[in-house]
Amino acid sequence: MAHYLGIDIGGTNIVCGAVDEAGRLIGMRKLATEADRGSADVVSRIAAAAEQLRRETLGEGRWTAVGIGVPGFVDHERGVVELAVNLGWRGFPLAEELAGRIGAPVYINNDVRMYVYGEAMAGAGKDVSHVYGITLGTGMAGALVQEGELFYGGGGIAGEIGHIPVPGISFRCNCGLTGCLETVASANGLVRQARQAMEQGRQTVLADWFPGEEAGRLTAADVTRAWDAGDALAHEIMDRTGRALALGLTAAITLYSPQMLVIGGGAARAGERLLAPMREELQRRLLPAYWNQLGIRTAALLEEAGVVGSAIYAKRSAERS
Ligand SMILES: [Zn+2]
Repeated sequence: MAHYLGIDIGGTNIVCGAVDEAGRLIGMRKLATEADRGSADVVSRIAAAAEQLRRETLGEGRWTAVGIGVPGFVDHERGVVELAVNLGWRGFPLAEELAGRIGAPVYINNDVRMYVYGEAMAGAGKDVSHVYGITLGTGMAGALVQEGELFYGGGGIAGEIGHIPVPGISFRCNCGLTGCLETVASANGLVRQARQAMEQGRQTVLADWFPGEEAGRLTAADVTRAWDAGDALAHEIMDRTGRALALGLTAAITLYSPQMLVIGGGAARAGERLLAPMREELQRRLLPAYWNQLGIRTAALLEEAGVVGSAIYAKRSAERS
């Protein structure tokens, strides 16, 4: 029986998961990334964790193929990490380095693509063939899966709507543009909007919870908590963010016509607080015939999506090569 290893590399942790032929997660191991110890050290520790996990879950069995999601720009065809700022990797041939240590073919891709791929193949989108997934985390990212394959587009950024300027947004973005969707529609974006309102002296329960300097500790989960407490500012922020998201999504989803829109990442935990205004605005803007058949769900696999997606991506890639 074939077994696949999925690896999700994050800035803080690396999660390794053993996945069977049916796409089920049968074992996991987690280790600290500690990227400052250098790429060779990270590779050695991943190889050791993979070997421990193999013994625990497969016994004498071997990995059929390995898939890895990396936070950064990845040349998936060559298996090279072109740039992963948080890891300090540039032009790093990760697939080749790790394949030698693990003794199985290694396929790498971008971490958000692997997350969306996992949700499309085994999570919220598993019952349909065309899925568009976005993650609302530190920033906003997205990816498209059509009939079991990731769709990249010729320029390689298909689905990345986070840097579309949306009317009504005036924050400057890290990318150099102003008014990008991700400056509000992300976990950081919710916090950014709350802090700006607090600095302007808006009355809000958040100002009671985080007086003065403590505003720096505010997270997206606190905005959700304030919403639950009936705070007017929190309601305004969720409403504005949901509607901005709909503005950014309207053209993108009309163009790709997915059957399922999957919303993941930290800010997706806000659930219907954020999705209700988004749905309302989308319904006003989309062709009724399409709106009626479009599914919208929050991610089902959450933390496991990246690992499961990477493993299924490895299976798919190995079968093709
Ligand atoms: Zn931007």
